[in-house]
Amino acid sequence: MKDSKVSIELLSHFSCRICNKWWSISDAPKQTKEWFCPWCGEKQVFVYKNEI
Ligand SMILES: [Zn+2]
Repeated sequence: MKDSKVSIELLSHFSCRICNKWWSISDAPKQTKEWFCPWCGEKQVFVYKNEI
């Protein structure tokens, strides 16, 4: 019998400091610090609260 595979998904939650809404991206590249808020469109720099 062949092995089946499982992979882990890392889900990042982004909180916008301008409109206070949030969104999430799975497996977001951690080296990318600047994101556009999909709600208000503002670009901002994000810092990780809890480093993994
Ligand atoms: Zn926003």
